[in-house]
Amino acid sequence: MTKQTMTDIAPAAQQADRPVLELTEVGKTYGSGRDAVEAIRSVSFDVRAGEMIAIVGPSGAGKTTLLNCIVGLLSATKGAVLFEGQKVKGPPEAMAVVFQDYSRSLLPWRSVRSNVELPIRKKHKDRATVRAKADEALAAVGLSHVDRKYPWQLSGGMQQRVAIARALAYEPDILIMDEPFASLDAIVRAELEDLVLTIVRELNMTALIVTHDIDEAVYLADRVFVLTKSPTEIAEEIEVPLAKPRHQVSTKGDPRFAQLRSHIYSLITEIAAR
Ligand code: ADP
Ligand code: MG
Repeated sequence: MTKQTMTDIAPAAQQADRPVLELTEVGKTYGSGRDAVEAIRSVSFDVRAGEMIAIVGPSGAGKTTLLNCIVGLLSATKGAVLFEGQKVKGPPEAMAVVFQDYSRSLLPWRSVRSNVELPIRKKHKDRATVRAKADEALAAVGLSHVDRKYPWQLSGGMQQRVAIARALAYEPDILIMDEPFASLDAIVRAELEDLVLTIVRELNMTALIVTHDIDEAVYLADRVFVLTKSPTEIAEEIEVPLAKPRHQVSTKGDPRFAQLRSHIYSLITEIAAR
């Protein structure tokens, strides 16, 4: 960033160049006094429109805490989060979130279809449009046949697919995901990684995913941020120059994929030993 202030730039340029998401020295301490737990020391980064960012770090690093600060469910105790130029104070309308804990993200008293349709109705008043968008998303995650069932009648993996369908169907400006594929088997996981990549690309969405899986981070992202242990900071930012669209076999077979994976693996091992 240059030292130029926003008032020095013409309004049109402000819009065009402005990152979608801007974190400036974000810190988070839970509690106070002797019970204080500093989860995030200081994290700063920008996310540009259309980028896919992966955040990796060891368990307990502060990934979920950071994500909750970004989506406005927690307020940072230091620094600021700006989304589309506005300070985040609560969950912004143009964001969709897929939580790590799928069992708490769906409404148990509503059917699968109704869970997926609910957020779409905020954007589209026309009933046929709402239905069509829900149909498309449910088909994409392979769950058209269970649309009348309730979340508690489905396996964990299926519930998480409903949560992913709901987020994609909403067509947010930014999609935020906290370890969304952690509970899924390898094949479903690969399918859903590709589904998310395809839809994010088609709709020109910006996305940020938190994961502890190094392969997943490299496969999905344009840039990977590796976090230190808690209280967390960014240990390193890694560009992923692999061609897009990605492909499960050829991308993972690219020698640069192996190099990036080893580099991040060494870095995380080194962080764990600190
Ligand atoms: P991750 O998602 O990377 O596993 P978390 O963000 O869940 O990490 O946790 C980061 C740190 O903050 C941990 O030390 C954890 O114990 C602590 N922490 C998380 N949530 C709370 C909370 N509600 N109150 C106090 N400490 C918390
Ligand atoms: Mg977590």
